[in-house]
Amino acid sequence: MASFSSVSAAARRLEGKVALITGGASGIGESTARLFSKHGAKVVIADIQDDLGHSVCKDLNSQSTSFVHCDVTKETDIGNAVNHAVSKYGKLDIMLNNAGIAGVAKPNILDNTKAEFEQVVNVNLVGAFLGTKHAARVMIPARNGSIITTGSVCSTIGGAATHAYTSSKHGVLGLMRNTAVELGQFGIRVNCVSPYVVATPLSKDFFKLDDDEIYRVYSNLKGEVLKPEDVAEAALYLGSDESKYVSGHNLVVDGGFTIVNSGLC
Ligand code: NAD
Repeated sequence: MASFSSVSAAARRLEGKVALITGGASGIGESTARLFSKHGAKVVIADIQDDLGHSVCKDLNSQSTSFVHCDVTKETDIGNAVNHAVSKYGKLDIMLNNAGIAGVAKPNILDNTKAEFEQVVNVNLVGAFLGTKHAARVMIPARNGSIITTGSVCSTIGGAATHAYTSSKHGVLGLMRNTAVELGQFGIRVNCVSPYVVATPLSKDFFKLDDDEIYRVYSNLKGEVLKPEDVAEAALYLGSDESKYVSGHNLVVDGGFTIVNSGLC
């Protein structure tokens, strides 16, 4: 479970804001729900794991956190989740399209099936499209909003995951950039947070490794293990007014991994 130090009322960066987090029952989404809540946001967790989602909400203040069952591949579910946030808390300020799956680890394209490819793209990219669309539906009339999608280092490099995962994570950058251009006129900012490997159920299942070596950031920094909290802090920045002139940006949280591995020296 994510642990954050307590935040004084004066230091809360999301006071009065309402956030919807898809994939908020586990990993990065759960950690972000906890951090957003500490910073004064009302948080709606939208996920397919009902028991986990309810238990995160129970752990947080039940007045300011709620769970809604939502499969991000279904437009009616996403629409309902957005409507739930607006009817319960009056508005939607922050949409975090975070639900994601890694798919089956098959490095050879000849082994990959169309169905496996489509499943990953449906959750990671189509889900982000539907979340962005329905957030925009309520944010445009409000002339305000921050839409964030969880990308990955696989949004900009190849070879680190499956073809489907890399394709879907490259896709969310395109989606983000197009909507950032379009929605800026309505005061809506659109960005991505793109982590390196983080120790969560998704990566543990995908890499099937016992040790934590894969989680160590191979970087020009200290080479520590990235935690969901580190990614949540980046989402907090993009959700807060401190980033009020940041839009169309891919905020990479990788300890320098991408730049080190794309550089020549
Ligand atoms: P996780 O498995 O802990 O959390 C993913 C959540 O998404 C789960 O709660 C799951 O129930 C939910 N989910 C899956 N399919 C869904 C669907 N159809 N509808 C609604 N919810 C669904 O994994 P995580 O690592 O926290 O992943 C969160 C995001 O971070 C994903 O988009 C992932 O691609 C991205 N990411 C993860 C890593 C990593 O190493 N863990 C690195 C880069 C990016």
